[in-house]
Amino acid sequence: MTGWPILVVEDDAAIRRLLQAALTRAGYHVIQAADARAALAALAIDKPVAVLLDLGLPDRDGLELVQPVKAAGAALIVVSARGQTADKVAALDLGADDYVNKPFDTEELLARLRTALRHRLAAESRAERIVLGDVIIDLAARLITRAGAEVHLTPKEYALVAELARYPGRVITHAQLLRSVWGAGHERDVEYLRVAARGIRRKLEADPAIPRLLRNEPGVGYRLMG
Ligand code: CA
Repeated sequence: MTGWPILVVEDDAAIRRLLQAALTRAGYHVIQAADARAALAALAIDKPVAVLLDLGLPDRDGLELVQPVKAAGAALIVVSARGQTADKVAALDLGADDYVNKPFDTEELLARLRTALRHRLAAESRAERIVLGDVIIDLAARLITRAGAEVHLTPKEYALVAELARYPGRVITHAQLLRSVWGAGHERDVEYLRVAARGIRRKLEADPAIPRLLRNEPGVGYRLMG
């Protein structure tokens, strides 16, 4: 990944400097944009592989940049102020890969960036078999095993795991999961998700009370971790 261009869109100069330093140390080539106009220009000229996007920009709503960034084929991580849950969910629904809250932990941000870049590279060669520790999800065979033994999930539990397993490590919003598993019109039935998640954890987690595999992102969605 050395030298890969990463675009940082952020109007706060101090945060830009912090991100510049961390990303440069990690071997990336950093391009900075202080507003949406500069970001759109950089997207066309520098062809970044990933964009770190602040949603509160001086000239435009950062959400307006989500589609141009996805259209350019770049991975997108939203870096937003804590508490702006609705904005984060909107960005994820529009196609952002992940989000990090401010103030952020640099190591966590770099880990999220690596995951998003991996997804972008793997996007064409969709894996049919996902290995998450001792859990193996075989999407082609519709078979899940844990430590070698077959795990029996209900159809909805299976559909939920399969949907999350297509994007390991990535947070999928409640509305996206409800729409793809229960169908259009169920986007607000978050209780369905909670019930299915409980069932999945009971069957797949070493300790369902401390889930390591199926992680909840409060108010946002779920992600499946390896
Ligand atoms: Ca800002």
